Amino acid sequence: MKDNYALFWHRRDLRIEDNIGLYNALTSGKKVIPMFIFDKDILDKLPKNDARVNFIHDELRNIHNTLTKLGSSILIKHGKPIEILKELIKSHNISAVYTNHDYEPYAIARDNEVNEFLSSQNIEFKTYKDQVIFERDEIVKADGKPYTIYTPFSKKWLANLNTDDYASIDCVSHYENFAKLTFEFPSLKSIGFTASNIKVLPHTMTKTIIDEYEETRNFPAIEGTSKLSPHLRFGTISVRACVQEGLKSENSTFLKELIWREFFMQILWHFPKSVTHNFKSKYDGIKWRNNENEFKAWCEGKTGYPIVDAGMRELNTSGYMHNRVRMVTASFLCKHLLIDWKWGEAYFAEKLLDFDLAQNVGNWQWVAGTGCDSAPYFRIFNPTSQVQKFDKAHEYIKKWVPDYQELTYPTPIVDHKHARERCLTTYKLGINN
Ligand code: FAD
Repeated sequence: MKDNYALFWHRRDLRIEDNIGLYNALTSGKKVIPMFIFDKDILDKLPKNDARVNFIHDELRNIHNTLTKLGSSILIKHGKPIEILKELIKSHNISAVYTNHDYEPYAIARDNEVNEFLSSQNIEFKTYKDQVIFERDEIVKADGKPYTIYTPFSKKWLANLNTDDYASIDCVSHYENFAKLTFEFPSLKSIGFTASNIKVLPHTMTKTIIDEYEETRNFPAIEGTSKLSPHLRFGTISVRACVQEGLKSENSTFLKELIWREFFMQILWHFPKSVTHNFKSKYDGIKWRNNENEFKAWCEGKTGYPIVDAGMRELNTSGYMHNRVRMVTASFLCKHLLIDWKWGEAYFAEKLLDFDLAQNVGNWQWVAGTGCDSAPYFRIFNPTSQVQKFDKAHEYIKKWVPDYQELTYPTPIVDHKHARERCLTTYKLGINN
């Protein structure tokens, strides 16, 4: 009799340890074919040397190497997911497809289509929560409505947390259930991409970083944060492992940041419209200036404000930007230059290694003042006093803008006092109370 296989479809979970969907496939009694699809619909929009595609490819190669030692391998495909699945169902005797939930609007539509097709073929589509501790409407208000304010959400999140919610899942003991099939591993070139100089760095989630996080996290010149974000984005680490580390510390500030991540995840799931619309529609009347030359100067790190330029140059060079500086650069774009947050969001989406729709949109709207639980619109970061507070010795600035004291360095694109006043007037006029 032909083998009866289960397919495990990796998406934002590029690991074979502590993976809930994979665990369920491996313990289903069927032999498991792990699989990843380089989705043409997503890839076609990216630059050909995209660093994230490089990272995905590298991580899949690591999985492939581990599986090869076990006499198995990962199946890598390139195309449209629905078409690939149709093809695989024909070529292999597959009775179930396992995967983990994805909460972005595109992914939800894709999974609905896949679900419809698989059920028409009497094939089970089994999906699991894996990338968050609490998903969708697991943490809602007493009346069942979603939280739109972080603090009560985080309190309920912590109150509902049980050890089972963050326990690691033992996949390793079940590796013998991977199908003994050999698939060829495709080169980056064969999917239309080239190598990038920008690399995802290993994370630094150590006890010291977490214990000292509250004191160090705001200073961009200090290695004071965990660098977990791309790993959480692509699931090269499980969120349960991160929460376990956060809970070990007496200081809960780090754990609270992981809860911000889940807060924005559930906001996106409940309010998918917030990707393209102000979360609070009363801000829809703001007359953005949207000056293209100024936008270009901001993107290139040539605004004449060293902290803003350092952030943008860090982003352009490394695919990363420190959180404090993300807030300053984003605020500068929306408030000093009065450029629509959607322009900045799109630029970050193209450049950030950790780009995640929920986090990027949530944070951009937070900074612009248009989001849920946002900074009030009249809070306008002063780029000069931000340097005084967070980069007094100019260490961060010197690293990314070594020319900041030279004559060739641009003069400020706009005067701070003037920009501040213009912003307050424009917001006041635009807000529909
Ligand atoms: P740490 O400070 O070590 O934090 C640990 C983890 O907590 C992070 O990896 C992240 O998962 C989570 N976290 C921390 N801060 C936030 C936050 N403000 N919101 C949500 N989760 C948070 N983060 C992304 O992962 N992807 C994005 O696309 C993204 N876009 C942003 C855009 C703007 C304008 C701003 C202000 C912030 C954005 N952030 C985004 C949030 C934050 O800047 C990064 O998560 C953080 O800088 C990543 O570095 P780290 O892993 O060292 O973080």
